[in-house]
Order: sequence, then C-alpha cells, then structure tokens
Amino acid sequence: MKNLSIVILTLLLSTTIALGQYEGTKHPETNSYQYDQPYRIVNVKPAKGKKVKNVILMIGDGMGLVQVSAAWVANRGKLNLDNCTTTGFSRTWCANKLITDSGAAGTAMATGSKTNYHCISVDPEGNPLTSLTDRAHSSGLKTGIVVTCNLPDATPSVFCANNIDRDLEEAIAADYLHCNVDYIFGAGREKFSKRADKRDLLDEMKQKGYQVCTTWNETSKIKQGKVFSVPMEGQLPLAKERGDLFTKASLHAIHLLSKNKKGFFAMLEGSRIDDCGHWNDMPKLVEEVLDFDRSIGEVMKWAEKDGQTLVIVLADHETGGLTLLDGDIKTGTVSGNFASKGHSGVMVPVYAYGPGAEAFSGIYENTEVFQKIVKLLNLNQ
Ligand SMILES: [Zn+2]
Repeated sequence: MKNLSIVILTLLLSTTIALGQYEGTKHPETNSYQYDQPYRIVNVKPAKGKKVKNVILMIGDGMGLVQVSAAWVANRGKLNLDNCTTTGFSRTWCANKLITDSGAAGTAMATGSKTNYHCISVDPEGNPLTSLTDRAHSSGLKTGIVVTCNLPDATPSVFCANNIDRDLEEAIAADYLHCNVDYIFGAGREKFSKRADKRDLLDEMKQKGYQVCTTWNETSKIKQGKVFSVPMEGQLPLAKERGDLFTKASLHAIHLLSKNKKGFFAMLEGSRIDDCGHWNDMPKLVEEVLDFDRSIGEVMKWAEKDGQTLVIVLADHETGGLTLLDGDIKTGTVSGNFASKGHSGVMVPVYAYGPGAEAFSGIYENTEVFQKIVKLLNLNQ
C-alpha cells in the first residue's frame, strides 16, 4: 500500500513537471495580433549630394528592431521605413545605468552628453546643457516639436527644459516659456493651466508671442508665426482613436517652419509606442508603430519634394524586451513575447533618408546623433 502511494505520488509529480515543461515551451505569454488595415507605402527617391538645409528627427519612443519587425509583418512585409537608404545602431546606456530612461537617452541625443537616469538636459552634476533646439535657434533656424504624449514628458522636455528630475513636471512645463521653440504640439494641457502654483502658463505663452491653441481645428488654421498647441489634457489617445492627428500636426509644423529661408530643425515623436511596450500589449504596440510609419511616409514625401531635408528615424531605447516568435506576412499576423515591463539595454536601429543620410551608418553612441546633426546643419556651438 505504502509503495503504491509512492508510485502514484511520483506519477503525479512527474506529470506536473512534464505539463510545466510543456507549458513552458508553449511560451504562455505569447501575444498575437492580426492587422486588418494594411496600407500602401509611399514611393520616394531620396535627393543625394545636396547640402542639408533641414533636419527632421523622428523618435519612436521604445521602438527597437523587434517592434519595427513586428509592424513590418503586420503590414504584409512592407514599411515606409524601408525607403531609408542608410541604417546604423545607437547604443543607449546612460551615465549611471546600463538601462536608460527617455530622459537620459533624449538628453544624449539632444545635447551630446551622457547623463544620469531621469535627468532632463542637465549633466550628471545638474548643470544645464544646451540642446539642438537652442543651437538651431541661435544659428537662425526655426525649430519645432510634435509629440503624442504630454509636453512635460521626457522626450519633448529634453529639447525645451532643464531639470535633474523628469518627475518635476510643473517646473519642466514652466521651462517651455524660455525654450525658443517656434512650433510646439502635444498633450498635457493641465500642466500649463491647472497648476499648484496657480500660474496660467497658457496666458504667459501668449505674452511670449505664441498663438496658443486648445483644439486641433484652431491650430490647423494658423498660417504663420509661433504656435503652442495643447489640444488635450493627459496624453493624446492611442492610434486607433487618434486617427491621423500626429501626421497632420507634423506636416503643419513642417509647413510653417519651412517658410524660414535658413531652414529648420524638427523633432517628431511617436511617444506612445513606449507605453504599449510597458503594458506588453502587442496589438496596441503594432498599431502605434504603424501609425508612426504612416507619418514617416508623409514626411518622406515632403522631404523628397524639398530635396534638402534629411529625415532621421530612431529610438531612444527599446521597451518590453520584445521577441518575435511567429507570424505570417501574407495574413499580417504576428506573435511575440515580452521579457520585461520596463526598458531593455539592447542597441536600437537608426534609419536615415535624404542628403547627409550616409553619416548615420555604423555603430555609435546615442550622443553622436547630436554631433552628426550639429555638423550637417553647421550649428553654432
Ligand atoms: Zn518607457
């Protein structure tokens, strides 16, 4: 009897272990998605050999190589990004951590200096750094930023503010008054109008000469001058609900900034790719990358016509530790697995299109993105 119960116990135990192993090989956290609205990619030829007059830096927050690959499968094996003629890799580590955040990674690209985790365009000692937008402005270029997150969030802020802590959003919002950026579009209106210190920054932005807009409709009617557009509180909605708002705002910014004879620098961010990585949500993630890619296509069409515009598409870091495990290009189905709810330390891809694109091939530190842009636009130090 005793022997029998040992046999049964052993059998039960080994079955459980076997089942566990089986479940393990089935990667139970696989996240699958089929995209039902594949789109045609734009047909463009990049201008070569001309001087770079304008630079458009497009940042996919958290958009690693696997995020791009998943979107590529979902859209039936094609992306507007494929029009880029040069690719490279950027190393994302920050001064005090291997795994960076958007504050330190953005600071590296915006100022050319590695800094500590959570810093916004200050060095590791807390001293303010000048950014690409400051330098472009002092060199006579117009500047703009368009994002889908709230403006005091890390990536837009590294171009408009200086702070040792990205979480001090009210102080960061107040820095927008002094940033000299000509076109600003994003969410987070409450950080400017419903503040603990009772300041009305929307009114203060008006005093600074900005046309302050609280709807897209108002924004779209502006034909010239400085723009500060905050159509929403919080974040802009996700891709499905947002429609083509990011593309429209990006093209509107480019249209206004390009009236400047000396050229412009613009930073356009697909901010919410990162959120979807944190949530380990494959469907929403793919939709965000594809929305970003649609905008990339429209920006490339504009750049092709202009002939003197360099478009750079890159990420600040990867989010979610995503792996692509299966999929079908014919049906646009992708399956993947996330290893993390946070960021990872893997190198991220850099894509470039237009005159000067060759400068972005190779493997380099994220700080070199800044140096390459400064050199190509011949910006003041
Ligand atoms: Zn993140």
